[in-house]
Amino acid sequence: MNLQRIADKLGITLKKLESLQENIIRRSSWPEPRLQRFEKATSGIEAGTAIFDNGDIVYGYPKIRRALMLKAAIKRYFSDRIAVEEKMNGYNVRVASIDGEVVALTRGGFVCPYSTEVASRLIPEVVFNDHPELVLCGEMVGPENPYVSKDIYPTDSIDFYIFDLSRKNWKGTLGVHKTHEFAEEHGLRATPMLGEFRTDRAYDEIVGIVERLGKKGHEGIVMKDPENKAMPVKYTCSESNCSDLEVAFRYYNDYALDFFVSRAVREGFQSAEWNESDEERRARALRIGESILLPLVDTVKKKMSGEQIVQQVQIRVKNIQTARDFEYHLRRSGMKAIFDQPEPNDEGGYLVRITKLVMSTNDKTQALIEGEMW
Ligand code: ATP
Ligand code: MG
Repeated sequence: MNLQRIADKLGITLKKLESLQENIIRRSSWPEPRLQRFEKATSGIEAGTAIFDNGDIVYGYPKIRRALMLKAAIKRYFSDRIAVEEKMNGYNVRVASIDGEVVALTRGGFVCPYSTEVASRLIPEVVFNDHPELVLCGEMVGPENPYVSKDIYPTDSIDFYIFDLSRKNWKGTLGVHKTHEFAEEHGLRATPMLGEFRTDRAYDEIVGIVERLGKKGHEGIVMKDPENKAMPVKYTCSESNCSDLEVAFRYYNDYALDFFVSRAVREGFQSAEWNESDEERRARALRIGESILLPLVDTVKKKMSGEQIVQQVQIRVKNIQTARDFEYHLRRSGMKAIFDQPEPNDEGGYLVRITKLVMSTNDKTQALIEGEMW
């Protein structure tokens, strides 16, 4: 690999690149293709940026800022128009073709064997044949999503919805309209476009959209500048904040404190901004309270009756090797999971049941019910 060329492409000096290789850039030699990934953001380069050994660079997907006060954020961050897309709840994947092979990268810049198999199956070959430079940025969603399993989308397995397009060796993205046009032309799914509004009239429309999505258990929205000149801004539904809390309190010792606090704070701001009636505010309080207490009680009771606290997920793969590789991939990401023996299914592939261990919550709860101090 020609380091000087890579440094030039990244827009940094060779010396800088060498110093980053000592502390921020990590090598990943499995699975193929080998790459170096940015563990943190630095010098204007996003975390998760991957430099492949053939010299191709796939930049990390930019962080999306979150609004707490919707109306003020719309006014402050957008000019005359605003496009509203659904924010789908799964995990972020960037798909590119490296030396002719489809590769799916996770947020952190690892090649994920399962996502790679899914992407290869769902993305028509012609897409990368015609556009070898393309990077498809999208969300993997569905019940057979081993990271964030949700059964609210029209699939009984896993599906890929694109929300942006980029190119290898290029930091930019093409934005909302080009993405939807491209998806339409190439038979790909895109995150739903929920409308485009004049900024001065957007607030009421958006509140209505967020309420409707919330009732369906969907996550929220991402507001985008139709001209792709302003950074996108995200905003989530109360029901989704609560369903996050529910999961986090069930496995309360495996989540960082900020995960809980940030969601509670979002609820406070939404309740204040939406001028709720007393009754609506009480309903919200009840919803939040239930999403905290009920899963916690459930966890404690389970442990009291001697059960292990675990999380069950399943995936379907075409190739049995994908399951083995995915097991290794989860292990190297620090996740403890037990994979059952793959079961052949009617589709000529395999069903794999996975038990994710939540060690910290499990051990902490056991200690507490034995009288240990917090
Ligand atoms: P971030 O650092 O990007 O905020 P996060 O891990 O905190 O990441 P989220 O709160 O889920 O993630 O919000 C951003 C993510 O939302 C994006 O990285 C993307 O994976 C996902 N997403 C879902 N739908 C969309 C959409 N329509 N447009 C853009 N991103 C979307
Ligand atoms: Mg997400």
